[in-house]
Amino acid sequence: MTFKELGLADPILKALQVEGYENPTPIQEQAIPILLKGKDLLGVAQTGTGKTAAFGVPILHHLYNSQNGQQGKRRLKALVVTPTRELAIQIGESFTAYGKFTGLRNTVIFGGVKQNSQVNKLRSGVDILVATPGRLLDLMNQGYISFRDLEFVVLDEADHMLDMGFIHDIKKIISKLPPKRQSLFFSATMPKDIVALSRKMLGDFERVTIKPEQATAEKVEQGVYFVSKGDKPKLLILLLKERPNDSVLVFSRTKHGADKIGKKLRQADIMSAAIHGNKSQNARQKALGDFKDGKLKVLIATDIAARGIDVEELSLVINYDLPNISETYVHRIGRTGRASATGIALSFCDTEEQPYLRDIEKLIQQEVPRMPPHQFVDSEDEVVIKKEKKQQRSHNSNRNRNRNSNSSGGQNNHKNRNRNRRRY
Ligand code: AMP
Repeated sequence: MTFKELGLADPILKALQVEGYENPTPIQEQAIPILLKGKDLLGVAQTGTGKTAAFGVPILHHLYNSQNGQQGKRRLKALVVTPTRELAIQIGESFTAYGKFTGLRNTVIFGGVKQNSQVNKLRSGVDILVATPGRLLDLMNQGYISFRDLEFVVLDEADHMLDMGFIHDIKKIISKLPPKRQSLFFSATMPKDIVALSRKMLGDFERVTIKPEQATAEKVEQGVYFVSKGDKPKLLILLLKERPNDSVLVFSRTKHGADKIGKKLRQADIMSAAIHGNKSQNARQKALGDFKDGKLKVLIATDIAARGIDVEELSLVINYDLPNISETYVHRIGRTGRASATGIALSFCDTEEQPYLRDIEKLIQQEVPRMPPHQFVDSEDEVVIKKEKKQQRSHNSNRNRNRNSNSSGGQNNHKNRNRNRRRY
């Protein structure tokens, strides 16, 4: 199947050619015909599958065909709502690339920065708006955005919207949409509350599912190292020094952890930058820009900050911490091995993270290959032995504590009771 066979307008075909896209990805092949027919769409797919073009291209196609030499100020006809600033910027860049020869205009709005330049762009007139929920509602309430002429609405990464606490904002936005519209709803996972939300938004829809296990198993070479928490920095430094020219994205579960990793790398003379919610928008953009340009080889990110990172030459993802939510693993390793490339994802697993690994393997329906023993790496058996020893130690110390308190008689018990009372 080619893009031409999908019946897309010439300026869009030309732009896709410039982008170097030869064939549609599975989600594009399935979603584009549905959207060209004018039907609503439920897309169960993660970032990295080519879903931005799957919704962006048909929207551009419709808008281009209905332009008819349009005069005067442009009116807002398509809206994409997405959870993070990085993702919003990424989607805006995709619309600009795919719509390069159509004359259509898009802009991006998100919170955490002053609104003036965003308002000016809206005032000058845009066809397509990409927005994060909070700033969208804010500017709507101030009267800068009208849904009157809206024809296309995309809700992107619905599951992350809910994880990030945007449910009320999303419901408010949905309640203000015009009834006659084409709606698109994307989510990587479909728990009950997401199904309910999709029903609120979609009319007569078709569903396209791109299974995560397809995306991970086929594209990304995976591996896991069993390593103690204390040895993780040493293993990371070793792996990075082995690949000085690779662009590496390192995932940390927490913001504090991301900063700590950066510090350890600095001590080993490895340049890196951390991006997470506590960093200013400018610092995040700068780090991301340097990483994309190849000036910075190592980027450390938390999951939320990493949404939307799309770097063509990203060769390696390292899960410094294993995520406790299995779907997050799929999102993370989807950063590498994007639509046409293959990539490598290596995970560090300490004793406490073993249950997470089991959950991940259940979700992706495959065993993550065990990496060969390394200087700092334990075999799986050693991990089990260490875990048992740790449990035994804590059992022994509890027993000793109990024995001591029993032997010290009534007076101490009384003291302990008082201490406990104070503590709670
Ligand atoms: P997305 O899931 O939209 O974030 O896309 C993931 C990556 O795949 C981006 O780098 C896109 O530029 C790239 N991509 C999207 N569609 C195609 C295609 N048909 N052929 C090659 N690369 C693509």
